[in-house]
Amino acid sequence: MVAQARNNPENRCPICHKPTNPDAATLPFCSDRCQKIDLGKWLDGKYIISRPVEESDQDEGE
Ligand SMILES: [Zn+2]
Repeated sequence: MVAQARNNPENRCPICHKPTNPDAATLPFCSDRCQKIDLGKWLDGKYIISRPVEESDQDEGE
């Protein structure tokens, strides 16, 4: 498989596994959407992926 040799395997979205743009502001995710999906995992399933999320939502309280 050399067809995508230019793509660094590490530059893949951990959510959907698509190659990401190295200039993306959402790295390591391919998009804002996947970034939010990952955040949802961190929030222990309490977070429902149906609304925009702010950084302030990342409450440190457990
Ligand atoms: Zn993705």
